Parts: sequence; C-alpha cells; structure tokens
Amino acid sequence: MVNKKEVFLFLLLFSLGIFFIFIYLYIKQAEKDIFTKIEINRIEQISYLFQNIEKDIIDNNKIKNSKQLIKLLYNAKTRKKYEKYLSFIATPSIKYIYLLTKDNKGRFRFLLDASKIDKANFFEKFDVTNQKYKALYITKEAQIIRQEDMENLFLTYIYPIKVDEQIIAVLSVDITTKIKQTLIELTKPLETFFIILVIFVFLFVAMTIIQVFHYFITRKKIFTDPLTQLYNRNYLAEVSPMLKLENYSVAMLDLDKFKVINDTYGHKAGDFILAQSAQILKNSTRGSDILIRYGGEEFLLFIYKRDNDNNSTLKICERIRKNIDTNKFIYDYNEIQVQVSIGIHEHPHLEKNLNEAIKIADKMLYIAKTKGRNRVINYIDSKKDTHVKSNNLDFVKDAIDDNRVVCFYQPIYNYLDKTILKYEALVRIIDKHGEIISPIFLLEDLKHTNIHYKLTQRILFIIFEKFKNIDKHVGINLNFSDLINEDIEKTILDAFKKNPNLASRVTIEILESDEIKNIPLFKEKIELMHSYGAQVSIDDFGSGYSNFKTILDIEANFLKIDGSLIKNIDINEKDFKVVKSIIHFAKVANMKTIAEFVHSQEVYDKLLPLDLDYMQGYYIAEPSPTLLNVKDLF
Ligand code: GH3
Ligand code: MG
Ligand code: MG
Repeated sequence: MVNKKEVFLFLLLFSLGIFFIFIYLYIKQAEKDIFTKIEINRIEQISYLFQNIEKDIIDNNKIKNSKQLIKLLYNAKTRKKYEKYLSFIATPSIKYIYLLTKDNKGRFRFLLDASKIDKANFFEKFDVTNQKYKALYITKEAQIIRQEDMENLFLTYIYPIKVDEQIIAVLSVDITTKIKQTLIELTKPLETFFIILVIFVFLFVAMTIIQVFHYFITRKKIFTDPLTQLYNRNYLAEVSPMLKLENYSVAMLDLDKFKVINDTYGHKAGDFILAQSAQILKNSTRGSDILIRYGGEEFLLFIYKRDNDNNSTLKICERIRKNIDTNKFIYDYNEIQVQVSIGIHEHPHLEKNLNEAIKIADKMLYIAKTKGRNRVINYIDSKKDTHVKSNNLDFVKDAIDDNRVVCFYQPIYNYLDKTILKYEALVRIIDKHGEIISPIFLLEDLKHTNIHYKLTQRILFIIFEKFKNIDKHVGINLNFSDLINEDIEKTILDAFKKNPNLASRVTIEILESDEIKNIPLFKEKIELMHSYGAQVSIDDFGSGYSNFKTILDIEANFLKIDGSLIKNIDINEKDFKVVKSIIHFAKVANMKTIAEFVHSQEVYDKLLPLDLDYMQGYYIAEPSPTLLNVKDLF
C-alpha cells in the first residue's frame, strides 16, 4: 500500500507547483500592468501637447484643409518654428516627432520633422503599412502602435489633426522605452527562481508518479498467482491485518479428487482445469469478495456480508459449487467432471484470530470431503449438529458413558415381493440438548482410537439385544479394522454362540471404501462369519478402489451399490450404465444387489427395470428408532 505520508507529500508538492505557476503568471501580468500604466501616463502628456500644437497651427493660421496646411508649411521659416516647437517634446526616449499629411494620391508625406537624426525632407514620402493609420482615419481618434523586441518597447502615438471633423494631417511620435528591460532585469532572478522551482517540483511529481506506477506493477506481480490470476497468499498476508473480519465470512474451497484428474489427463490438463475453475470461482463471486489461491487446488474466499442479506454466504458458496459442478470442462476433446467441496465459517471475528477461523473453515471442508464431497458445510449448522468444536473424542466418549448412543434402523426393501428383507442399523448419538445426530463425519476423527472400538462394541451390544428374540434380519456396518479386532470378533462370536439362531439373521456390511490391505486375512474373517451362518455385504460398492477380482475372491452375499451412483441415476445416463454393469457382474458372481440412496420416485422407477434385488432409501423409508413394517413404507 502507498502510505498516507507519501500521498500527503505528493499532494503538497503538486499544490506548490501549481502555486508557483500561479505566482509566475501573476508577476508576468504585473509587468504588463506596469508597462500599460507608464504608457498611459506618457501618452496623456503627449496628447496634451499635441492638442496645443494643433490649436496653434490650425487656429492661428485659420487653416481649413490640407492644401492650406501644405502651403503654410512650405515656408521653411514657418516649418522651423513649428519643428522647434515640436522638438520640446523630445527626450532621450523620444527621438522622432513628425507631422504627416496625405497627398492627392493618398500617400503620406512629411510636413514637419522634429527628429534629431535621419531628419526627413519636406514632402518626403512616408510608407505606411500599419493598419492603425487606417483605423485613425475611420475612427478619427488617436491610435497607439506597439512594437516590442527583447529589450525595448516601441510605441508610436498617432494623433489626427482635424478641421470640421475632417482629418487634414497626422501628428506622430515614436517613443522608445527601456523600462521593460529595467523591469525584466528586476524580476528576472525571481522568475528564474520560480521556473527552476516549478521544474524541480514537476520533476519530483513525475518521479513520484513513475514510482507509484512501478509500485503497482510490482505489487500486482507479487500478489497474483500466475496460473489462476487470482490473489495469492502474499496478498492475504498483506491485507489480513486490515481486514474487518466482522464484515466477512470465510470459506475454504478444495477441488475434489484433483489428483485423479492430474493422474488421468496429465498435469497440463490439471493446470487448465485449475485456471478455468478459478475463473468460474471469480465469476461466481462479487467485487466485494476476496478470492485467494490458498494452495494447489485450494482457495480461500472472504465473502462480504451485507446487512440486508444474511444468507449471502451460503448462496454464494452453493452457487460456486453448482457452477463448477455443471460446467463442461473440455480438455483435448475430453469432458472432465470437476467438483468442489466448501467449508464455511460465517463469524470469523468470533475466533481468536483469522488463522483460527481459517482452521475451522478448513475443518468444515474436511467434513464436506468425508460426507461425500461436492457439498457445502457451514460451521453454524455443523456446530449445532455435531459439536465439532468441542473435542470430537470427548463428545463420543461422553455419549457412550451417558448411554446416549442409539441405533436407528432403515428397511432394505424387496420391491419384487414387497417385503422387508432386513434393517440396516445406523448409529446415532443423542446430544446434550436431546438432538439426534449422525456421527458419520466424526468417525474419521475416531479412526484407530480406542473410542472407536468402544463405540462399535456399544452398537453391537444394542443391535444384538434388539434382535436376539425377534425374527428379523439386521445389517451391521463394520470396517476392516473392526473385523480384525479381537475384542470385537469375540463380542460377535459370543453372541452367535449364545444365540445360534441370531447369526443367520445378521449381515455384516463391510465398507468397500475402507482400505483392505490384507486380502487373505479379510477372506479368513469372512469365512469365519459364514461358518456361523452370518452373511456378508460389500458396502458402498463403486466408491472405493477394490477391484472385481477381490470382490469375487471374498465371496460376499450382497453387493450394496454406492449411493453416489444411485442418487442421480434418473438424470445421469452414465451412472445408469455403471449400475447396470455392476448388477450384471454381481449376478455372475452370485451376489444379491442392493441400491441405496433411493430418495425419490424417479430414482425408484428408473431402477425397476434393472435386474436389481433390493432397494433402500428415504423414498422407501427413513431410518427410524423402531423397526418399521411394510405398511409404514413409502
Ligand atoms: P480431495 O477431494 O480430497 O481434495 O482429493 P484431491 O485429489 O483433490 O486432494 P489431494 O490434496 O490429494 O491432491 C491435490 C492434487 O492437486 C495434488 C497435486 O499434484 C495437485 N496440484 C496442486 N497444485 C497443482 C497445480 O498447480 N497444477 C496441477 N496440475 N495440479 C496441482
Ligand atoms: Mg487437497
Ligand atoms: Mg482436492
């Protein structure tokens, strides 16, 4: 930023420059005024003398016209008398005084000449070029002719001698004055001083302007990311101390699965997508928002909060998400799907500092990622829902200790014979305000912690209690690390041994997305479950990384197709094709298929013609604390 002092100095010098120019012009004007005053004074005196001479010549000699005048002055004696008379006016600065008349051809001729040097003869021709002579004859008034050179001012004063308003002769006097030179000599040092000063000031102003220009160019370079043309982190460091946080929301944005784009289409394509995404982000925000490229494919956005629109943050973020999601990115004839996840903190000023606020927005971004990406998570909502701010581990630990862990059950529906196959058990936590929360996005924090196993144990206990004496089937979510945990295994096997009829009513749903590194061990555990009569389902198939061969190897009973492939199947033809081929594959591998996330009639109808076995989703039934019957569905 240009600091205030510099701006002040600049303005001061600029005004000084203007002031000096003004003074200079003022001096120039004053010079002129002085000349004029002196001139007027002189001419007044001369004019008075001329009047007397006029009277003398005309009245005393009873002259009526120019002929008579010529005749009068033809006499050398008379001429001498009047020339002497005229020469009284002469001073060192008045050398030429003469009387002219026009001959019958209209040419001027000397009648008298009182000059000391270059004296003209009587009736000698006098060439007139100056227009003022004409003016004199037209206006019948005296005229002043001015001529200037560097040092002197030449004035010619011409005075008409009239008889009955007829001009019969012209009295003329040439005045040379050195006053100008004197004045110039007087004011020259002052003028020079001012000119130098003005030059100096303007040089300085010009230099400052160049510097400021240079500063802005450099500044733009330092603060701009060359690939995306957005601000970079240098800019953030520069503006953050001045940012009024209470006026902004902060949002962290991160392109989803960008590594995959790089790996699939190459780094150049990645760069292209980054630049284009940045442009979309920029176009989706307003002038008052501040958009920064924060990292590789991460952006930080300050959203200006307007008083009259307390929803602007969410609206803008949702707009960004949608604009990225729906934009057709074409690179090298490939259409590349790009999505973005966004975490928001709407009240950054409530945090200790900006860094803390950014951290929270980042945490929300992380939740958006774990919840399935391509979404916006707002801290306010998530705080209400999940108490993320309080320590997540403590939150779950307290819930276990206070018996606030419960299970909800969502029917898995056999749409062919309209029966409920089984219920998927879904963990819920009742928070301290009595609100029911899905801890799904806390699970990442809990991974590989003791609390995670405790939570799993608690869930198993609840489920086994619930299903031990009823003739219903249940699906239990476990991940690989649960499955190979000795305590958990023991809990499951103990329950199966105690209640032999239970195992056949249990399906272990194993998350496909969970990294299954040790395939032989995985197979061994599944065979163990099978040996008790329990079934196994591969959960969220299509979202993770396992290959078809692994799935065939582990001989699961069910394949649950990931919700991300189902939820838009009614509008996304590609998803439809993928789902169709998964079903086909499952048939070949002798697995039953389940579609999850059936959230609308459109999705449901779209799935009907496929060779699917079961469906699950909000359209059929939401998770419920009790086991719903067929009549409660839809
Ligand atoms: P997630 O959805 O979890 O964000 O997955 P992701 O793959 O986007 O995240 P991750 O952080 O694993 O990968 C980001 C990738 O972005 C890795 C890096 O190579 C790439 N990347 C970062 N900066 C640039 C860049 O300037 N140009 C290109 N082409 N790639 C970049
Ligand atoms: Mg990333
Ligand atoms: Mg990313």
